[in-house]
Amino acid sequence: MLSVTYTASLFGVDAFMVAIECNAVRSLPSFEIVGLPDLSVKESKQRIFTGAYSAGISIPDAEVTVNLAPADRRKEGSALDLGILAALCRSCGVIPSSCKLENMCFFGELSFTGEVRRVRGALNMALSAANAGLTEIFVPKENLIEASAAAGNGVKIYGVSNAAELVSHMRGESCITAVTEPPEKVMSDMRVIYGDFSQIKGQSRAKRAVEIAAAGGHNILLVGPPGSGKSMISKRIPTILPELTYAEAIETTKVHSASGLLDADCGIVGHRPFRAPHHSMSTAALVGGGKIPMPGEISLAHNGVLFLDEFPEFNKGAMEALRAPLEDGNVTITRAAGRVTFPSEFMLVCAMNPCRCGYFGSRRGTCTCTNTDVKNYLSKLSGPMLDRIDIQVEMPELDFTELSNMTPSESSEDIRRRVEAARQLARARFRAAGRADFALGSNAKMDTDDIRAFCKLDDDCLKIMESSFKRMNLSARAYDRVLRVARTIADLDYVAGGGEITSSVDAGGRIGKKHIMEALQMRSLDKYFKN
Ligand SMILES: [Zn+2]
Repeated sequence: MLSVTYTASLFGVDAFMVAIECNAVRSLPSFEIVGLPDLSVKESKQRIFTGAYSAGISIPDAEVTVNLAPADRRKEGSALDLGILAALCRSCGVIPSSCKLENMCFFGELSFTGEVRRVRGALNMALSAANAGLTEIFVPKENLIEASAAAGNGVKIYGVSNAAELVSHMRGESCITAVTEPPEKVMSDMRVIYGDFSQIKGQSRAKRAVEIAAAGGHNILLVGPPGSGKSMISKRIPTILPELTYAEAIETTKVHSASGLLDADCGIVGHRPFRAPHHSMSTAALVGGGKIPMPGEISLAHNGVLFLDEFPEFNKGAMEALRAPLEDGNVTITRAAGRVTFPSEFMLVCAMNPCRCGYFGSRRGTCTCTNTDVKNYLSKLSGPMLDRIDIQVEMPELDFTELSNMTPSESSEDIRRRVEAARQLARARFRAAGRADFALGSNAKMDTDDIRAFCKLDDDCLKIMESSFKRMNLSARAYDRVLRVARTIADLDYVAGGGEITSSVDAGGRIGKKHIMEALQMRSLDKYFKN
């Protein structure tokens, strides 16, 4: 008898629907799968029959043919097991015809003991199934928390722990409780994960730079000797970025789920991610790749922070590969099976020592590098990569007064409030100018036209820019970067002064002298780099 049901197959971060058509005819036992299955799908026969036998499901002898449609797309992975089992049971009459398999979707891997194992991309597949109009979605019990985000509007999600439980539910002998509503917005407390800004002593300049970077979405480079707190401050940046929205949380979870990194009990990623790949990491692991394309670190950092410590040690290839994703907010990987695009909207935070030994300009250690060594070390960064970093800031070691100061400094929450207000202001401005595409409200994304429209300077400011450029020997490219940062500083200033956020192209007011001066200070390292 012919039966039809559905499953989903993961491709990149998205999943496409797969119809499972199963035909079983009473005959000598045989089993065949057609429709571009990969090796893991072909092997499902062993898992399904042994798993069913262990679970006490008796499948009568039959000639079984399974067709996976669309036939022209390759289906990968073991997540199809559960759907094939359901279709097979229906074809053989193990589950009754009253069971509407054509409204259902199944995914999960079967073990030889009949247990249903967790799969990668459960949320992604459940969302695709719900979008396709399927109303009953069966997922591995361990994937239930994440997949339940697809519930609601008549869509029910069932968590299955073993094959016997599923068949018994289908036969009406027992009942698996369904999740019928998506979880409430579950945001984790980021201060528990990353710590709080109030724990950082001193470093007021670096803290200010980081606040500006967060407010404008600017990429930032921290330069300082070992022990100056570069990692400590970087790790806390997610705590001052605007709160993750529900939509962003789902997007981020999809990437983590597709890469199999989600904990069973974590469900939805409720905090901005912070990823700190080591410089020895391969380019593929950094930007994504592999035979079956998997998201790389830059995609795992989507909606969060990518932290590259010891920045000059990253190889040229990796830095090259970062350029396009930094510009586009996503990364495309081309494989024989097709093109996969992973999202990669992150804030880049880089840290480095001022020289190879780390102690150039330090009070605590003695630098053993020659002047040429220092120049060479810094010049490793010259070129296109630095063009994408708006803010550079030096972090000296703390002096004794700062170290012995016991008063806690400002909390992440206080800083985050200012950051959020500045972003709102930027969003209002972009919206008024008909630039609704600036969904993130980030000044760092302004192109030359936007800069002309939103960063007008008066004569005084122009004079300062002119003389500084001559004195600091800044490049033409640095000009735009200074203006973008000055815009963010002016925005922060405006909201700190209690300015009202109005929907106008002039929202936030003009960039003033002090804003330009501060923005120029954020490029203090340009003199070392060959631009
Ligand atoms: Zn040195």
